[in-house]
Formats: sequence, C-alpha cells, structure tokens
Amino acid sequence: MNLAARDAGLSLLRQHALIAGEPIAANGAGVAVDNPADGALLGHVPDLGAAETKRAVAAAVDAFTDWSRGDPHERAAFLRAWAALIDENTEALGALCALENGKPFEEAKGEIAYANGFIKWFAGEAERLIGETQDSPLGHLILTYREAVGPCALITPWNFPAAMLTRKLGPAFAAGCTAVVKPASQTPFTAIALAELAYRAGLPAGALSIVTGEAAVIGKALCDSPDIRKLSFTGSTGVGRKLAEQCAPTLKRVSMELGGAAPLVVFADADLDLAVAETIKGKFRNSGQTCVCPNRVYVERPVAETFAEKLAAQVARLPVGDAFQPGVKVGPLIDDKALDKVERHVAAIQADGGRILTGGARHALGGRFFQPTVTLGGDDRLFREEETFGPMVPVFPFDTEAEALEKADASEFGLASYLFTRDLDRAMRFSRRIEAGMCGVNTGLISTPVAPFGGVKQSGYGREGSIHGIDEYVNVKTVTLALRSA
Ligand code: NAP
Repeated sequence: MNLAARDAGLSLLRQHALIAGEPIAANGAGVAVDNPADGALLGHVPDLGAAETKRAVAAAVDAFTDWSRGDPHERAAFLRAWAALIDENTEALGALCALENGKPFEEAKGEIAYANGFIKWFAGEAERLIGETQDSPLGHLILTYREAVGPCALITPWNFPAAMLTRKLGPAFAAGCTAVVKPASQTPFTAIALAELAYRAGLPAGALSIVTGEAAVIGKALCDSPDIRKLSFTGSTGVGRKLAEQCAPTLKRVSMELGGAAPLVVFADADLDLAVAETIKGKFRNSGQTCVCPNRVYVERPVAETFAEKLAAQVARLPVGDAFQPGVKVGPLIDDKALDKVERHVAAIQADGGRILTGGARHALGGRFFQPTVTLGGDDRLFREEETFGPMVPVFPFDTEAEALEKADASEFGLASYLFTRDLDRAMRFSRRIEAGMCGVNTGLISTPVAPFGGVKQSGYGREGSIHGIDEYVNVKTVTLALRSA
C-alpha cells in the first residue's frame, strides 16, 4: 500500500465549500464523503442551499465585469500559473481523487494530467479570441467580437472529479466568464482543492465558487437565476433533461454532456489482439464508470468466439483492489447502487441465454468491488438502453456490416463509438454513417483536450475541448460601422 501517496492526498483535503473565495466549513456535519474502497469516512462538506447559492451567484456577477473586460493575455497568464500549481501538486491531487472516487492512484494521476491539459490548451485559446472584419453589401464595415457569455453555472459528475471540471472552467475563464460550480456530492474534495489552487494562482475573489449540498436545491437556484447566463452540465440524461427544462424560462445558454451506451464493433478483418487490448483500455478505465466506455461489443460472427475468449483471458488477469495497492488496474464501484446495476446486467445476459466467460459476481474483496466480467451472447437490448457503468463487457455476434450499423445506432444515445477493421473504405464509410458524436477507429482511447468531445441524440449537445470548446462560453457581437467617404 502506497501510504505516503495517500497521506499526500489527505493533505489537500479541505472540509469546506468556497463562496466567493471564502471557505464555509462543514464543522463535522453536512454531506459525508467516503472512500469507495472501504467505506471509511473521508470527511464532510457543508450542506448549503438556495441562500448560499444566491450569494455565490452575486459574487460571480460582481467579479464578472472586471474579469471579462480585462486583458485576455492576463487571463492566459492566470491559467498558466494555475496549470503550473496543478503540475506541482499532481501526486497529491491524484491521491485525493483516488481517495474519493476509488480509481487506481496511477490512473488518477493520469486524470489530473488530462484535466490540466484543458487548462493549458485554453490558456492558448484565451490569446486567440479572434474577431472578424467584413465588408457589408450596405457599404458598411462589419466587426465581430467574441465576448464572454456571463456568469456560468457548472455542474459536474463524480466519475472524473478533476477533468469534467477543468474541461468547463478552462474555456470559461479563458473567455472571461466567472463560475459557480456544483460538484458531485460523492467527490467534492478534488474540486475544492483545484479551486484553492486557482485562487493561489491569482484568480480574483468571486470569480469561482464551489457550492456543496442538496443537488436539486442548488441546481434550481442556479437555473432560476437570470444572472446566470449559461449552464454547462455533465451527468446523466435524466438530470440533464430536467435542468434544460428549468433553464428554459430564463433562456440560458445550455450545454449538455450526458450519458452514452457506446457500441464497439469488431469486424473479422480486424487485428484481434489490438481490438482486445483497446477494448480493455477503453472499458476498464475507472472500473467501467465512464460515459465513453464501450457498453456493448459487436463482433463479426466468424471471430466472435475467438475475440471473446482472448478478451476474457486478459480481463481475468486484471488486478483488482484499493487505489493505493501497487499494480491495481480496477478499483471499486462508486456505491452499492452501482454494484446492484452490474449484477442486474449480468443476470439479464444469463436470462437471455448468454454465457459468462469470466467474472460475473461480486469480488472476493467484498465491499463495492466487482469481478471484471466478459459475457458472450444473449440479448443486447438492455445494453442499448442503459449504461452498465461497471467492469462488464457483453459481446454479441453479428453477421453483416449493415446489421452492425443498425445495432450500433439502435439506441437513444449517441456519444462515443468504436470500430476495428483493416479495411480503410469500411472504416471511412462506417465512421461517417454512425450516429455518434465521436468514433474511434482501431483505438479505444479518444479523449484528449485537443479533440472535440460531445454527443448527439440523448447524449446531449455542445462540444468541450478543442478549438470549439470556447464557443460555448462566448457570444458573437456584431458592430456595423458606417464609414464616411472622404
Ligand atoms: P447525475 O446523477 O446526473 O449527477 C451529475 C451531477 O448532477 C452531480 O453533481 C449531481 O449532484 C448533480 N445533480 C443530480 N440531480 C440534480 C438536480 N436535480 N439538479 C441539479 N443537479 C443535480 O450523474 P452521475 O450518476 O453522477 O454521473 C454519471 C452520468 O454522467 C453517466 O450517465 C455518464 O455517462 C454521464 N457522464 C457524461 C459525460 C459526458 O461528457 N458526456 C462525462 C462523464 C459522465 P449530486 O452528486 O449531489 O447528486
């Protein structure tokens, strides 16, 4: 057990929320946060409500004018200073993230580096808030400016406590927006530590608040506020739909990064060893609790059995355990409900005539650990409708390319998708036709700060990261100049 790393993580744990840069202590009560590996209490954050949310919004409004009208190069310099502090504290932040989320420490450090990638990328974007000039057919000169949308509400999930936050805060700050953040109740400490570093890096008071407590109450106060001009949400489709409805009366700009139930398709001509290795990379990150991880794997019938057996053999060897146990690749699930869901999905496959090739039950470690699982056959319907959000890969055979595309698209979701083939024509054709915001061809890893991230259909709208990410936080202003001729 790497106890030194764990202690470093605890050194960044603050049991408070932050309103306008000022801590509000939990004082041993409020929302309890535990370590999913053993259920041990890590600490509390305060249970704040509408009044504190309104104070945070007022602070974001106060800070907005100076911040948005300031020099974008200064905002870029702030983002770089923040990124440098995060780099310095990667070990401790990774450990804190591992403690509250359960993901392996090495993986959690990877998340911090990935999260910081957004801050670094958007520091550059702050310097590229470029407008346009254009001659008008009316004889005028048209100028466009890209201006900050306003104070933003950002609501984030527990599965990537750092990256889902910086993917929003990076572009928001770059554009000149201020923010009120509601982190997930199961993983608030990483967000609070990142906010502390942001203030240490020179963020003006009020530009960022972290409000903890009852999600529905805080969410409603944020959606109802006419001062909040934009909501960016990452989480489940059901909550996203509700928030979009709540934002309608104030006509806020909204972006929604919602659930996925990603298909992964393997054709018989694929490099099967590569497909197996990439499926494992894509699926078992965060114990299968990611919005882009393959939820259903379709394999062309002649190679389905071979693929599934190779996959099962490697999955059976994945080390499961506490985040700080050296070599661990798969951690616990976030809570008991998550464990029940994986169990239900395994039972559904069995009821439909599918076979368990490895795993299939709770792990001998007990608690929230589940065995990494591979199944073959059964009905794919449930896996088109629901994310398993756990360490289970169901493999289903298919016969034709048309059938694979039909099955891949037969879901209300459309976030990530994956395809393995050596046929370039097929790769181009299939990746263009599939209804998904993203498609990985011969890879299971598609997330990077430089690639647009987002979904279609019930997976939401808006794009994060890349050159498009900042567009979610700017309004285009048009100035029309009537110039007198000399
Ligand atoms: P969730 O239940 O929707 O929660 C996400 C966030 O919303 C949390 O901060 C939660 O707060 C808050 N929330 C819950 N109910 C709310 C309400 N009525 N009003 C305002 N806020 C509310 O989702 P989750 O189970 O944590 O996360 C997993 C889901 O997120 C999956 O569906 C996954 O696919 C999706 N996800 C999508 C992306 C993407 O980029 N597309 C990335 C990661 C995850 P509490 O924690 O306090 O309940």
